[in-house]
Amino acid sequence: MIPMYRVVKELSFCYGHRLLDYQGKCAHPHGHNAKVEIEFSSESLDGRGMVVDFVDIKAEVKRFLDEELDHKMILRKDDALTKLLQDMKEPVFVMQENPTAENIARVIFQYAQSRALPVSAVRLWETPSSYAEFRG
Ligand SMILES: [Zn+2]
Repeated sequence: MIPMYRVVKELSFCYGHRLLDYQGKCAHPHGHNAKVEIEFSSESLDGRGMVVDFVDIKAEVKRFLDEELDHKMILRKDDALTKLLQDMKEPVFVMQENPTAENIARVIFQYAQSRALPVSAVRLWETPSSYAEFRG
């Protein structure tokens, strides 16, 4: 096995959502206080001796969570609530896929990757006892 350095940053945000094509409580609008663990990995360290600077994680990923996801309703594009809330000028984050913890974890992963951060996994804790993970 190749030796790897890993760092994990824990962040948090609150969101609302509902799931389509789903039978059960989560089919109705409700909210979560989510914890996110963002894991970064590298076989080698940069000139500063780091996998990634926590300051950069804060500047990029925390800013994304604060501005795009925190206190937003996260809804699928074709959810009837999406247009309704947008028309009411309510804050909505629109996704192509159902806004499950798995898909939200993937959105955060892809954002971190798009900012050239060495992200290797995102774990989204939807409750204190349940998380979904997306690993690149
Ligand atoms: Zn939920």
